[in-house]
Amino acid sequence: MALRTIVKFGAVELDTRCTEIEDFTPDLEELTRDMVQTMYAAPGVGLAANQIGLTTRLMVIDITVGEDPKQLIIIANPVMLEMEGDQREEEGCLSVPGHAGVVQRPAWVKVRGQDIKGKEVTMEGTGLLARAFCHEIDHLDGKLFVERLGVLKRDLIKRKIRKQIRQGDW
Ligand SMILES: [Zn+2]
Repeated sequence: MALRTIVKFGAVELDTRCTEIEDFTPDLEELTRDMVQTMYAAPGVGLAANQIGLTTRLMVIDITVGEDPKQLIIIANPVMLEMEGDQREEEGCLSVPGHAGVVQRPAWVKVRGQDIKGKEVTMEGTGLLARAFCHEIDHLDGKLFVERLGVLKRDLIKRKIRKQIRQGDW
């Protein structure tokens, strides 16, 4: 088990649509363990494979950040099936540290995917869990929460990050 480095805004993997997993090998379980440990160490409530530089459709979520092991969710090849309602809350990202903004998300979602053995699973979530499903699936589609902000807020964050990069502070 090893902690992986989380790549940040500007890394090409974060703009890449991740590819479907077809072979559910033991390597995948090892990778998933690393992702979970990296998420907990950050700490964060979710992590997508491209945040550690791998462009495979795999994500982990735990809105209790390890407090309740039963809440750990691991999904390969997730697909958004249904969504309902609205919520507006402040959202951040381990790949955009130090920046946050209010993002509109559905209040409830239903997601289909596969577990680490390749078995089909369907899950539902409300509140923070619904937000995490949306945020991580966005990652796997090559999209960051920053792109869902209003244009002014989005440009402000991008300007600040460009300055941080120039100053070697990113
Ligand atoms: Zn994120």
